Amino acid sequence: MFDCGEGVQRQMLLARESLNRKMKIFVTHMHGDHVLGLPGLLQTMTLLNREKKLDVFGPPRINDFLQAIKETVPFALTFPVEIHEIEKPGVVCDEKEYCVETIQSKHLTTSFAYAYVEKPRPGKFHPKKAEALGIPEGPLWGKLQRGQSVKLSNGRVMKPEDVMDPPRHGRKIVYTGDTRPFKLLEKFAFGADLLIHDSTLGEELAERAKEYGHSTPNQAARTAKRAKVKKLILTHISQRYEDTSVWLKEARKIFKNTAVAEDFMKLDVPLLEK
Ligand SMILES: [Zn+2]
Ligand SMILES: [Zn+2]
Repeated sequence: MFDCGEGVQRQMLLARESLNRKMKIFVTHMHGDHVLGLPGLLQTMTLLNREKKLDVFGPPRINDFLQAIKETVPFALTFPVEIHEIEKPGVVCDEKEYCVETIQSKHLTTSFAYAYVEKPRPGKFHPKKAEALGIPEGPLWGKLQRGQSVKLSNGRVMKPEDVMDPPRHGRKIVYTGDTRPFKLLEKFAFGADLLIHDSTLGEELAERAKEYGHSTPNQAARTAKRAKVKKLILTHISQRYEDTSVWLKEARKIFKNTAVAEDFMKLDVPLLEK
């Protein structure tokens, strides 16, 4: 989960998302609309008897914030919470199938943008090819699928590429949090399958957006274009805007594959052969 604004637990329940699921939370910065959902979420998880550990990543002081809640709002957690304060940008979380990287963004307070980057996946395995090459079904197939070469009983060596397609790139999803546009973001988001970008104020308030560390839809679209991402989602839109259709039209002139985020929006991010 990237950011945890007020009402997250309610939205998750409405969306029928399990609060017992395996989960890590990445907070961009300590403004209320990004972090105030944490206490409620932790409490609701406790009411539901969550047992799985929850990792929370975030800027300095997120630990103080959660400790203050713990000391003043008495409830005993039913699960461990591990807090990771980010000291410097880079890879902050490295798992078997993915990693999460961060860079500092340009906002009014210490703030991070995050990239969820899947590790390459093995290519498709072709059992027919393996049979045709005389590789017996069993442990040898498993070894090949894990990327190891195997030796057959006749002494011949078989390599994974003999029976498998080339590895497939994982997906990359970048979430900016609140930020002005900045050059390094284009590099950070380069080639992403999905860029979820701050788009707080319209073009008419570009000066104010800059002053408050936010972006406009066209700025987000320009970053998406330069970063050659596949899809752009505009988010964090000020409540003053009821109708964003004009925005979308303008932004799409710069970057075609743009959409505006909505509550409960679901997006399919397909694995592409690249
Ligand atoms: Zn903010
Ligand atoms: Zn915000």
